[in-house]
Amino acid sequence: MENDKQIPFKLGHIVFAEKNKQLWGFHVTCDNVPGVLKKVTEKFSRNNVNIVSLAVPEASREEVVGIFIVGDFTNIQLDPREILEEILSVKEVRNAKLIKPLNNILHDPYFFPIIIGKSRVVLLGEANLKGFFNVFRERFGDEIALTVLYHLGYSVGLKAFELHFEEYAGDLTKCLNILSALLLSYGWARIETVSASKNGICIRAYDLWECSILDRRGSTGSSYFRGTLAGLFSRILGSEVSVIETKCISKGDPFCEFYIVVNE
Ligand SMILES: [Zn+2]
Repeated sequence: MENDKQIPFKLGHIVFAEKNKQLWGFHVTCDNVPGVLKKVTEKFSRNNVNIVSLAVPEASREEVVGIFIVGDFTNIQLDPREILEEILSVKEVRNAKLIKPLNNILHDPYFFPIIIGKSRVVLLGEANLKGFFNVFRERFGDEIALTVLYHLGYSVGLKAFELHFEEYAGDLTKCLNILSALLLSYGWARIETVSASKNGICIRAYDLWECSILDRRGSTGSSYFRGTLAGLFSRILGSEVSVIETKCISKGDPFCEFYIVVNE
């Protein structure tokens, strides 16, 4: 796995500024036409204002698009309203608003909800995930908690099959490539396929979120993701499968490894 090809993707619609930074946000509504982004961002570069974040939503079908730009005005003797005026002078810009930082938080209040593809997503930070998974196990015990997590994951796998895999079910390689793209883009894990046939599959997951947040270490940690694989591959392979995690980052291995085996 070539780790150096990937860098963390920081979502740009919210920025947590360092205390000594003077950041300002700009929400710009403009026509979805070639060159408009250049015309708007030029207003910053011409004034020597560095853009520290630029959030441009996917807008393949929209005529008008909203973008969020955060500029760094630290040590720059320039009123951000001057840049706002310049942005408003661009022919394709329909509207632009200046957004003040809220203490150290700069966020675009016009972006809501968050969508990937056609589906709404909610972002759960580490505190949420740790709470759900670790507290759930503490309160209900491993036997109940891990079984419930596995079955929740299983239902996610079934739904994922319906949404993204159904039409490619006969093509295992394509399904594994789609799985890799989705897991990477949703921030779940980077995966690689070690072996794959109709009878069984071995995949490695790097930085799998579920195992990376575990408080308790020393054994294989995945139930939810394991269940997701089981639900998904039971449909892709057309038969119930068992999914076994043989290596895990929570016990010191460099990756989590899963064997997906068709049940006899
Ligand atoms: Zn693991």
